[in-house]
Formats: sequence, C-alpha cells, structure tokens
Amino acid sequence: MIFQKYQIASIRKIGENTNAYRLKPLQKKIAFSAGEFIMLHILDKNTSQVKRSYSVASSPDNDEIELCIKLVDGELTSRLAKLHEGEVVGIHKGGGHFTYNGEKKCGFIAGGTGIAPIMGMLRTIAGRKIQGKFVFFCSARTKSSILYEKELKELQKENPGIKVIQTLTREKWTGESGRVDAEMIKRHVGNPSEFSWWICGPLAMIKSMREHLASLGTDPKKIKMEGWG
Ligand SMILES: Cc1cc2nc3c(=O)[nH]c(=O)nc-3n(C[C@H](O)[C@H](O)[C@H](O)COP(=O)(O)OP(=O)(O)OC[C@H]3O[C@@H](n4cnc5c(N)ncnc54)[C@H](O)[C@@H]3O)c2cc1C
Repeated sequence: MIFQKYQIASIRKIGENTNAYRLKPLQKKIAFSAGEFIMLHILDKNTSQVKRSYSVASSPDNDEIELCIKLVDGELTSRLAKLHEGEVVGIHKGGGHFTYNGEKKCGFIAGGTGIAPIMGMLRTIAGRKIQGKFVFFCSARTKSSILYEKELKELQKENPGIKVIQTLTREKWTGESGRVDAEMIKRHVGNPSEFSWWICGPLAMIKSMREHLASLGTDPKKIKMEGWG
C-alpha cells in the first residue's frame, strides 16, 4: 500500500488516555474532505502491516493533520503510545461518506472519540466563515473525560452560528446531564427535521440517536452515521 510519510509535530493529552496527534506532511499532503478518515500506519520494521482507520480532527484547509486517538492498548495504539514527537508515521487516504459538504443547518452528535470528525467539520466551518446554524451535542461520561473543551469554546467565539451542548452521562454538573435524547434535541434545536445530522460514536449510541431523531420526524436520508468501539 502506498502511503505518505508524516512527522509527528506534537502530541497533546486532551483527555483520559486520549491524545491529539499533529502530523506534518514530509512528502505530498493528502487531500480529503472534512469528516473523512485516513489510514494510519506504524512504520517500525516489524510492524509495517499495522494500520487502522482514524477520522481527521482538523480542517482539510490546513497542511497538518490532527488525529484524536484513544490509547486502548491494542495492536496499533500500544505501538503509537511509544512514539515521540519527531518520529515518522505513514498515512494513506481512507475516505468515507461521513462528510460535510457546505450544509447551513447542521446538527452533530458525538460520544467519546466520535468527536474527532465533528471537530474536523466545525474547524472547517469556522475557518471558512460559513454562516448558518450548527448545533453540536457532545457527550462525555464525566467532566474529566470531556475532549477539546477549550477548543470548542474558541470555535463558538470564532463563529456565533456554532452552539455546543456538552452533556455528562455519569456526573451531575451545571450543564446538561444524561444521554442525549429526543427531549434534549427538541429543546435546543426546535425542529430537527429541518437539519442535516451527523452522528459519531459507539455503535449502540449512534443507533439510539438515529431513533430519537426519527421520533422527531427527521428523514433518515438526512442522517449520516459513523461508529466504532
Ligand atoms: C472509520 C473509522 C474511524 C475511526 N476513527 C477513530 C478516531 O478518530 N479515534 C480513535 O481513537 N479510534 C478511531 N477508530 C478506531 C480505530 O480504527 C481502532 O480500532 C482503535 O484505535 C483500536 O485499534 P488497536 O489496533 O489499538 O486495537 P485492536 O488491536 O484492533 O483492538 C484491541 C482491543 O481494544 C478494543 N477497543 C478498540 N477500540 C476501543 C475503544 N475506542 N475503546 C475501548 N476499547 C476499544 C477492541 O474491542 C479490542 O478488544 C476509527 C475506526 C473507524 C472504522
């Protein structure tokens, strides 16, 4: 498989066992659309075959690619955890249908590292100064497991059309608590059937979110889903 070499420019802890990796192209930059995933290869001699899919958390308008990866001690992540800034990984184009294509009324729902492609889309929307209504329901278990908290505040400042609703499923706090459901969606969005939707996270979660949206009259054709874990 032909891949492009990228250098790890920075590794930043952004949550429990979760890092944001900034990767700088050493050869040709890979072209992709906001929301797509790439294939990441670990290039150590014995493990050149280890590759996994990762959604891109940065805008395609940047040269660098950011990935948001939970270290689960699996085949790839255990090797990734040993890499340092300056080391080189391989990337080849993945793709996927989970893309943002300039829609102006958008609802996003993510749990855990499902936030990655949504960050890519929101960063694209803010960077391109797209006017519209963009509502993001972001679910985490506890306050300490919230990902990209600071960046989401900045995105809301940069683009007043972006509204983030953070909910915690295992802790009470001043914000929303409990899983995202039909009532929460209706309260923040009004009529969700007017929106296009992107849902990303664990498989059970995306299925249940699709049911909530359907119960509120959303056409399934307006819902895109991506799941893992
Ligand atoms: C389209 C797509 C996009 C993806 N984007 C991302 C992303 O942005 N960020 C990200 O972190 N992952 C993402 N993944 C998951 C990723 O591809 C790997 O499956 C994951 O990193 C585990 O790989 P591994 O080789 O370390 O574990 P493996 O060796 O493949 O699995 C080891 C064990 O870990 C368990 N496991 C795997 N993932 C998780 C998890 N998230 N939480 C708990 N246990 C787990 C498995 O069930 C298994 O038992 C994506 C997957 C797909 C299909």
